[in-house]
Amino acid sequence: MTILVTGGAGYIGSHTVRALLKAGYEVAVFDNLSSGHAAALPHGVRLFQADLLNPDAVMQALAETQAEAIIHFAARIEVGESMREPLGYYRNNVLGSLNLLQEIQNTGRRIPLVFSSTAAVYGTTDAVPIPEDAPLRPESVYGETKLMTEQMIRAAHAAHGQPYTVLRYFNVCGASPEGDIGEAHASQTHLIELACMTALGKRAKMMVFGDDYPTPDGTCLRDYIHVQDLAGAHVLALKALLDGRHGAATYNVGLGRGFSVREVLDMVDRVVGTRLPREIAERRAGDPPRLVADGTRIREELGFTPQFPELRQMVETAWMWHRTHPNGFEF
Ligand code: UDP
Repeated sequence: MTILVTGGAGYIGSHTVRALLKAGYEVAVFDNLSSGHAAALPHGVRLFQADLLNPDAVMQALAETQAEAIIHFAARIEVGESMREPLGYYRNNVLGSLNLLQEIQNTGRRIPLVFSSTAAVYGTTDAVPIPEDAPLRPESVYGETKLMTEQMIRAAHAAHGQPYTVLRYFNVCGASPEGDIGEAHASQTHLIELACMTALGKRAKMMVFGDDYPTPDGTCLRDYIHVQDLAGAHVLALKALLDGRHGAATYNVGLGRGFSVREVLDMVDRVVGTRLPREIAERRAGDPPRLVADGTRIREELGFTPQFPELRQMVETAWMWHRTHPNGFEF
Protein backbone atom coordinates (compact mmCIF):
# COMPACT_ATOMS: atom_id res chain seq x y z
CA MET A 1 0.00 0.00 0.00
CA THR A 2 1.61 3.27 -1.13
CA ILE A 3 1.21 6.52 0.76
CA LEU A 4 2.05 9.68 -1.19
CA VAL A 5 3.61 12.32 1.03
CA THR A 6 3.74 15.87 -0.30
CA GLY A 7 6.52 17.83 1.33
CA GLY A 8 8.01 14.54 2.50
CA ALA A 9 11.58 15.84 2.23
CA GLY A 10 10.93 18.58 4.80
CA TYR A 11 11.42 18.59 8.54
CA ILE A 12 8.12 17.04 9.70
CA GLY A 13 7.62 15.23 6.41
CA SER A 14 10.90 13.32 6.59
CA HIS A 15 10.23 12.16 10.16
CA THR A 16 6.77 11.02 9.07
CA VAL A 17 8.17 9.16 6.05
CA ARG A 18 10.33 7.15 8.44
CA ALA A 19 7.44 6.46 10.78
CA LEU A 20 5.35 5.25 7.84
CA LEU A 21 8.09 2.91 6.62
CA LYS A 22 8.48 1.56 10.13
CA ALA A 23 4.74 0.92 10.26
CA GLY A 24 5.03 -1.15 7.06
CA TYR A 25 3.72 1.26 4.41
CA GLU A 26 5.35 1.96 1.07
CA VAL A 27 6.06 5.64 0.63
CA ALA A 28 6.46 7.97 -2.33
CA VAL A 29 7.34 11.62 -1.85
CA PHE A 30 6.20 14.63 -3.87
CA ASP A 31 8.41 17.60 -3.08
CA ASN A 32 9.80 20.52 -5.07
CA LEU A 33 12.86 20.59 -2.79
CA SER A 34 12.46 24.36 -2.37
CA SER A 35 13.06 23.86 1.34
CA GLY A 36 13.23 20.08 1.69
CA HIS A 37 16.30 17.90 1.24
CA ALA A 38 16.59 14.71 -0.80
CA ALA A 39 19.23 13.64 1.75
CA ALA A 40 16.51 13.55 4.42
CA LEU A 41 14.83 10.65 2.61
CA PRO A 42 15.70 7.01 3.25
CA HIS A 43 17.10 5.05 0.31
CA GLY A 44 14.49 3.45 -1.85
CA VAL A 45 11.79 6.08 -1.33
CA ARG A 46 10.63 7.32 -4.70
CA LEU A 47 10.87 11.09 -5.04
CA PHE A 48 8.74 13.05 -7.50
CA GLN A 49 10.64 16.32 -7.60
CA ALA A 50 7.76 18.50 -8.71
CA ASP A 51 5.48 21.32 -7.70
CA LEU A 52 1.84 21.23 -6.60
CA LEU A 53 1.34 24.31 -8.74
CA ASN A 54 1.75 21.95 -11.72
CA PRO A 55 -1.47 19.88 -11.82
CA ASP A 56 -0.10 17.52 -14.49
CA ALA A 57 2.75 16.53 -12.19
CA VAL A 58 0.26 15.81 -9.40
CA MET A 59 -1.88 13.75 -11.76
CA GLN A 60 1.14 11.76 -12.87
CA ALA A 61 2.30 11.05 -9.32
CA LEU A 62 -1.18 9.84 -8.36
CA ALA A 63 -1.40 7.66 -11.46
CA GLU A 64 2.07 6.16 -11.14
CA THR A 65 1.87 5.40 -7.43
CA GLN A 66 -1.83 4.47 -7.31
CA ALA A 67 -1.57 6.03 -3.85
CA GLU A 68 -4.09 4.72 -1.36
CA ALA A 69 -3.73 7.74 0.88
CA ILE A 70 -2.01 11.11 0.89
CA ILE A 71 -0.33 13.04 3.65
CA HIS A 72 -0.10 16.68 2.61
CA PHE A 73 2.69 18.73 4.18
CA ALA A 74 4.00 20.76 1.24
CA ALA A 75 3.67 24.43 2.13
CA ARG A 76 5.58 27.55 2.99
CA ILE A 77 5.58 27.81 6.76
CA GLU A 78 7.02 31.04 8.08
CA VAL A 79 4.69 33.44 9.84
CA GLY A 80 6.92 36.50 9.38
CA GLU A 81 7.62 35.80 5.72
CA SER A 82 3.90 35.28 5.08
CA MET A 83 3.23 38.83 6.24
CA ARG A 84 5.86 40.22 3.85
CA GLU A 85 4.93 38.00 0.85
CA PRO A 86 1.22 37.28 1.27
CA LEU A 87 0.45 36.56 -2.36
CA GLY A 88 3.26 34.03 -2.62
CA TYR A 89 1.77 32.25 0.41
CA TYR A 90 -1.76 32.22 -0.96
CA ARG A 91 -0.51 30.95 -4.31
CA ASN A 92 1.73 28.25 -2.94
CA ASN A 93 -0.32 26.99 -0.01
CA VAL A 94 -3.89 27.53 -1.18
CA LEU A 95 -3.56 27.03 -4.92
CA GLY A 96 -1.17 24.10 -4.41
CA SER A 97 -3.68 22.41 -2.10
CA LEU A 98 -6.55 23.16 -4.47
CA ASN A 99 -4.65 21.45 -7.29
CA LEU A 100 -4.06 18.44 -5.08
CA LEU A 101 -7.75 18.17 -4.13
CA GLN A 102 -8.81 18.58 -7.75
CA GLU A 103 -6.43 15.89 -8.96
CA ILE A 104 -7.60 13.53 -6.21
CA GLN A 105 -11.15 14.11 -7.37
CA ASN A 106 -10.14 13.59 -11.02
CA THR A 107 -8.87 10.08 -10.25
CA GLY A 108 -12.45 9.07 -9.50
CA ARG A 109 -11.12 7.22 -6.44
CA ARG A 110 -11.70 8.10 -2.80
CA ILE A 111 -8.17 8.79 -1.58
CA PRO A 112 -8.04 9.68 2.13
CA LEU A 113 -6.07 12.79 2.96
CA VAL A 114 -4.22 13.78 6.14
CA PHE A 115 -3.62 17.52 6.13
CA SER A 116 -0.92 19.37 7.97
CA SER A 117 -2.59 22.36 9.62
CA THR A 118 -1.49 24.57 12.46
CA ALA A 119 -2.42 26.13 15.77
CA ALA A 120 -1.96 29.44 13.94
CA VAL A 121 -5.54 28.99 12.65
CA TYR A 122 -6.79 29.95 16.13
CA GLY A 123 -5.01 33.25 16.69
CA THR A 124 -5.59 34.87 20.07
CA THR A 125 -8.27 32.91 21.89
CA ASP A 126 -9.88 33.27 25.29
CA ALA A 127 -9.93 29.52 25.69
CA VAL A 128 -6.84 28.03 27.31
CA PRO A 129 -6.19 25.24 26.52
CA ILE A 130 -7.68 25.58 23.05
CA PRO A 131 -10.27 22.99 21.96
CA GLU A 132 -10.73 22.18 18.29
CA ASP A 133 -14.08 24.01 18.18
CA ALA A 134 -12.60 27.33 19.36
CA PRO A 135 -13.18 30.27 17.01
CA LEU A 136 -10.80 30.36 14.06
CA ARG A 137 -9.24 33.81 13.72
CA PRO A 138 -5.76 33.47 12.26
CA GLU A 139 -3.53 36.50 12.77
CA SER A 140 -1.06 35.72 10.02
CA VAL A 141 -1.33 35.07 6.32
CA TYR A 142 0.32 31.71 6.98
CA GLY A 143 -2.50 30.75 9.38
CA GLU A 144 -5.03 32.11 6.90
CA THR A 145 -3.71 29.88 4.10
CA LYS A 146 -3.93 26.81 6.34
CA LEU A 147 -7.49 27.69 7.37
CA MET A 148 -8.52 28.24 3.74
CA THR A 149 -7.13 24.81 2.89
CA GLU A 150 -9.03 23.22 5.78
CA GLN A 151 -12.19 24.84 4.41
CA MET A 152 -11.57 23.51 0.90
CA ILE A 153 -11.03 20.02 2.30
CA ARG A 154 -14.26 20.16 4.34
CA ALA A 155 -16.17 21.38 1.30
CA ALA A 156 -14.76 18.52 -0.78
CA HIS A 157 -15.87 16.15 1.99
CA ALA A 158 -19.38 17.62 2.05
CA ALA A 159 -19.75 17.52 -1.72
CA HIS A 160 -17.86 14.37 -2.72
CA GLY A 161 -17.19 12.45 0.49
CA GLN A 162 -13.46 13.23 0.46
CA PRO A 163 -12.18 11.40 3.57
CA TYR A 164 -9.84 13.59 5.63
CA THR A 165 -8.10 14.19 8.89
CA VAL A 166 -6.84 17.66 9.72
CA LEU A 167 -4.00 17.80 12.24
CA ARG A 168 -3.39 21.19 13.83
CA TYR A 169 0.15 21.19 15.12
CA PHE A 170 1.32 23.25 17.99
CA ASN A 171 5.09 23.99 18.30
CA VAL A 172 7.05 21.23 16.69
CA CYS A 173 10.65 20.77 17.75
CA GLY A 174 13.33 18.17 18.45
CA ALA A 175 14.95 15.79 16.01
CA SER A 176 15.17 12.10 15.30
CA PRO A 177 16.71 10.29 18.30
CA GLU A 178 18.99 8.57 15.76
CA GLY A 179 20.50 12.02 15.23
CA ASP A 180 20.57 11.93 11.45
CA ILE A 181 17.59 14.05 10.43
CA GLY A 182 16.34 17.29 11.92
CA GLU A 183 15.32 20.85 11.24
CA ALA A 184 17.31 22.43 8.39
CA HIS A 185 15.70 25.57 6.98
CA ALA A 186 17.58 28.12 4.91
CA SER A 187 16.10 30.89 7.01
CA GLN A 188 15.87 29.88 10.63
CA THR A 189 13.11 31.38 12.73
CA HIS A 190 12.19 28.76 15.33
CA LEU A 191 13.13 29.35 18.92
CA ILE A 192 14.94 26.11 19.79
CA GLU A 193 16.72 25.94 16.45
CA LEU A 194 17.96 29.52 16.84
CA ALA A 195 19.07 28.86 20.41
CA CYS A 196 21.12 25.87 19.18
CA MET A 197 22.69 28.06 16.49
CA THR A 198 23.57 30.59 19.17
CA ALA A 199 25.11 27.87 21.31
CA LEU A 200 27.20 26.84 18.29
CA GLY A 201 28.46 30.41 17.96
CA LYS A 202 26.71 30.89 14.60
CA ARG A 203 24.64 33.71 16.04
CA ALA A 204 25.71 36.31 18.55
CA LYS A 205 22.70 36.25 20.87
CA MET A 206 19.10 35.28 21.37
CA MET A 207 16.39 37.86 20.99
CA VAL A 208 13.36 37.40 23.22
CA PHE A 209 10.44 38.81 21.24
CA GLY A 210 8.51 40.69 23.90
CA ASP A 211 8.50 40.35 27.69
CA ASP A 212 5.35 42.36 28.32
CA TYR A 213 2.75 39.77 27.33
CA PRO A 214 -0.05 38.92 29.78
CA THR A 215 1.67 35.65 30.77
CA PRO A 216 3.36 34.61 34.05
CA ASP A 217 6.87 35.74 33.03
CA GLY A 218 5.80 38.17 30.29
CA THR A 219 7.07 36.00 27.40
CA CYS A 220 4.90 33.95 25.04
CA LEU A 221 3.69 30.48 26.01
CA ARG A 222 3.79 27.68 23.48
CA ASP A 223 2.86 24.01 23.56
CA TYR A 224 6.00 22.20 22.33
CA ILE A 225 5.72 18.75 20.78
CA HIS A 226 8.50 16.44 19.65
CA VAL A 227 8.63 15.91 15.89
CA GLN A 228 8.84 12.14 16.39
CA ASP A 229 5.58 12.17 18.34
CA LEU A 230 3.97 14.34 15.68
CA ALA A 231 5.09 11.83 13.04
CA GLY A 232 3.46 9.09 15.13
CA ALA A 233 0.23 11.10 15.22
CA HIS A 234 0.18 11.04 11.41
CA VAL A 235 0.46 7.26 11.36
CA LEU A 236 -2.41 6.96 13.84
CA ALA A 237 -4.55 9.37 11.80
CA LEU A 238 -3.76 7.48 8.62
CA LYS A 239 -4.65 4.10 10.12
CA ALA A 240 -7.95 5.45 11.39
CA LEU A 241 -8.75 6.85 7.94
CA LEU A 242 -7.80 3.66 6.14
CA ASP A 243 -9.89 1.61 8.57
CA GLY A 244 -12.83 3.80 7.68
CA ARG A 245 -12.96 5.32 11.15
CA HIS A 246 -12.98 9.11 11.62
CA GLY A 247 -13.34 10.08 7.94
CA ALA A 248 -13.88 13.75 8.72
CA ALA A 249 -11.88 14.59 11.81
CA THR A 250 -9.86 17.53 13.11
CA TYR A 251 -7.36 17.13 15.91
CA ASN A 252 -5.04 19.37 17.83
CA VAL A 253 -1.63 17.81 18.17
CA GLY A 254 -0.15 19.24 21.33
CA LEU A 255 0.47 18.10 24.86
CA GLY A 256 -1.70 20.59 26.72
CA ARG A 257 0.92 22.56 28.63
CA GLY A 258 2.77 25.73 27.74
CA PHE A 259 6.41 26.69 28.19
CA SER A 260 7.47 30.31 28.06
CA VAL A 261 10.27 31.60 25.84
CA ARG A 262 12.31 32.11 29.02
CA GLU A 263 11.73 28.53 30.20
CA VAL A 264 12.78 27.17 26.83
CA LEU A 265 15.96 29.25 26.78
CA ASP A 266 16.76 28.18 30.35
CA MET A 267 16.43 24.53 29.28
CA VAL A 268 18.72 25.11 26.29
CA ASP A 269 21.25 26.66 28.69
CA ARG A 270 21.12 23.55 30.86
CA VAL A 271 21.40 21.10 27.94
CA VAL A 272 24.27 22.87 26.17
CA GLY A 273 25.99 23.73 29.46
CA THR A 274 26.41 27.45 28.89
CA ARG A 275 24.36 30.58 29.41
CA LEU A 276 23.29 31.96 26.03
CA PRO A 277 23.42 35.74 25.68
CA ARG A 278 19.87 37.11 25.42
CA GLU A 279 18.29 40.45 24.77
CA ILE A 280 14.69 41.57 25.12
CA ALA A 281 13.41 42.80 21.76
CA GLU A 282 10.15 44.11 20.32
CA ARG A 283 7.19 41.77 20.01
CA ARG A 284 7.15 39.89 16.69
CA ALA A 285 4.13 40.64 14.46
CA GLY A 286 1.55 37.85 14.37
CA ASP A 287 2.53 36.18 17.70
CA PRO A 288 -0.42 35.41 20.02
CA PRO A 289 0.53 35.44 23.74
CA ARG A 290 -0.35 31.81 24.41
CA LEU A 291 -1.03 28.79 22.25
CA VAL A 292 -1.71 25.68 24.28
CA ALA A 293 -3.62 22.70 22.91
CA ASP A 294 -6.51 20.87 24.41
CA GLY A 295 -5.21 17.48 23.29
CA THR A 296 -8.07 15.42 24.70
CA ARG A 297 -9.66 14.50 21.39
CA ILE A 298 -6.61 12.93 19.73
CA ARG A 299 -5.76 11.09 22.94
CA GLU A 300 -9.22 9.66 23.33
CA GLU A 301 -10.11 8.97 19.69
CA LEU A 302 -6.75 7.89 18.27
CA GLY A 303 -4.96 6.76 21.43
CA PHE A 304 -2.18 9.29 20.89
CA THR A 305 0.50 8.95 23.60
CA PRO A 306 3.68 10.99 23.32
CA GLN A 307 6.98 9.15 23.72
CA PHE A 308 9.00 12.36 24.20
CA PRO A 309 6.84 14.58 26.41
CA GLU A 310 9.65 16.31 28.31
CA LEU A 311 11.01 19.65 27.17
CA ARG A 312 14.47 18.34 28.00
CA GLN A 313 14.09 15.47 25.49
CA MET A 314 13.01 17.90 22.80
CA VAL A 315 15.96 20.20 23.41
CA GLU A 316 18.46 17.34 23.77
CA THR A 317 17.54 15.72 20.44
CA ALA A 318 17.51 19.12 18.69
CA TRP A 319 20.91 19.92 20.15
CA MET A 320 22.35 16.54 19.11
CA TRP A 321 21.19 17.13 15.54
CA HIS A 322 22.46 20.71 15.27
CA ARG A 323 25.76 19.97 17.02
CA THR A 324 26.52 17.12 14.61
CA HIS A 325 25.03 18.88 11.54
CA PRO A 326 25.84 22.57 12.02
CA ASN A 327 25.18 23.15 8.30
CA GLY A 328 22.07 21.01 8.13
CA PHE A 329 22.24 18.55 5.26
CA GLU A 330 25.18 20.36 3.62
CA PHE A 331 28.08 18.81 5.45
N1 UDP B 1 10.83 33.61 19.71
C1 UDP B 1 11.72 34.48 20.34
N2 UDP B 1 12.95 34.66 19.76
C2 UDP B 1 13.33 34.02 18.62
C3 UDP B 1 12.41 33.13 18.00
C4 UDP B 1 11.16 32.95 18.57
O1 UDP B 1 11.43 35.08 21.36
O2 UDP B 1 14.45 34.25 18.16
C5 UDP B 1 9.51 33.40 20.34
C6 UDP B 1 8.34 33.75 19.43
O3 UDP B 1 8.01 35.10 19.55
C7 UDP B 1 7.27 32.81 19.97
C8 UDP B 1 8.05 31.59 20.47
O4 UDP B 1 9.41 32.03 20.61
O5 UDP B 1 6.63 33.40 21.07
C9 UDP B 1 8.02 30.43 19.50
O6 UDP B 1 8.33 30.93 18.21
P1 UDP B 1 8.68 29.98 17.00
O7 UDP B 1 9.09 30.85 15.84
O8 UDP B 1 9.65 28.94 17.44
O9 UDP B 1 7.33 29.22 16.69
P2 UDP B 1 5.84 29.79 16.35
O10 UDP B 1 5.16 29.93 17.68
O11 UDP B 1 5.98 31.05 15.59
O12 UDP B 1 5.27 28.69 15.53
